Amino acid sequence: LFITMEGGEGAGKTTLISLLEGKLGQIGRETVITREPGGIPIAEAIREVILNKDNTAMDARTEALLYAAARRQHLVEKVMPALNRGAVVLCDRFVDSSLAYQGHARGLGVEDVWNINRFATEGCMPDLTLYLDIDPEDGLRRIKANEEREVNRLDLESLDFHRRVQEGYRIVAAKFPERFLSLDASLDPQELLDRAWRLLQNKL
Ligand code: C5P
Ligand code: MG
Repeated sequence: LFITMEGGEGAGKTTLISLLEGKLGQIGRETVITREPGGIPIAEAIREVILNKDNTAMDARTEALLYAAARRQHLVEKVMPALNRGAVVLCDRFVDSSLAYQGHARGLGVEDVWNINRFATEGCMPDLTLYLDIDPEDGLRRIKANEEREVNRLDLESLDFHRRVQEGYRIVAAKFPERFLSLDASLDPQELLDRAWRLLQNKL
């Protein structure tokens, strides 16, 4: 079972993933937690190129292709083998991030970015995507309060960019209504976990 977590900055994806991992452990399901871009050495190396704050010359199409390349390697090396042995894979970001960030917010076009990602994934898509919908201002406030978080190149983006990301996710929601389910990220953490767990259980 392939589950992805999506959302803007500071939505709480990483936290919710680790809570869901705990729940899956309790019922004895093998769970693989991973993230994009990254999750394996080649893709983590690509992540470092994309997010390095010195790489200000990065072109938007180059960036989109690097995300797709990292995604491809991560799928083949880690996600597909885990799915094939029956594990539940919980992945922090996937294709929908590219559609929202590069496709819509950066203006490359959702359909063009979808096309390069179809090439990269050969149709391997999540069974369920949990989208944590957060007001961009709240999200940015949350990440600024998190002192452990490293500064990356995307942190230079404006509030307006993050508003477009949220808009991009709405387009994604309309494109994939059967798997893409939204949750209100401002709910209290226990309520959010309960709702996410119910949605996940429906797929088990
Ligand atoms: O999810 P995480 O915070 O680790 O993402 C790292 C950074 O990469 C974030 O700043 C996010 O905005 C950016 N990103 C992006 N386009 C993607 C995926 C992530 O701009 N497709
Ligand atoms: Mg995170």
